[in-house]
Amino acid sequence: MPVLESILFFSALLCLGGDGREAKPEEHLSDQIRTITTIVDNLQRRLGDTTKVLISVDRGNDRLVSVQPSEADKGTYILSLDRGFLALLDERDLRAVVAHELGHVWIYTHHPYLQTETLANQTALKVVSREDLERAYRKVGMHKGEKVDIQAFVGR
Ligand SMILES: [Zn+2]
Repeated sequence: MPVLESILFFSALLCLGGDGREAKPEEHLSDQIRTITTIVDNLQRRLGDTTKVLISVDRGNDRLVSVQPSEADKGTYILSLDRGFLALLDERDLRAVVAHELGHVWIYTHHPYLQTETLANQTALKVVSREDLERAYRKVGMHKGEKVDIQAFVGR
């Protein structure tokens, strides 16, 4: 399936790899994955979502955070986080971006809804505050050095 959100916000951010920001040492990777897994489990439970989501921490995910169907395992989705970007997120940010990506999972699993940022955020807002979501957007925007029209992505 083609990636549908290429023009969308988290997706539009360019890869930050190679700029020396990958501050967390290799041995922290399993800890990071464990933390993300716990967040995914917790948010899915609150959303009543039983979809299988695998976590992948990657170098050079040019969308920074993304989710897509697994090609190998139908019905499973892969949540990919760029490693350099991940190093910049605190747990609160992480919850917000995971909630947003679970919104995309919801859309994927609810045909015929189409992928939009606003719709993804409607799901996210069931489990994280608008403030947290905006904070995550702002942090990403700051990092990219661009002003972000948060209203356009989060809705009113
Ligand atoms: Zn999105």
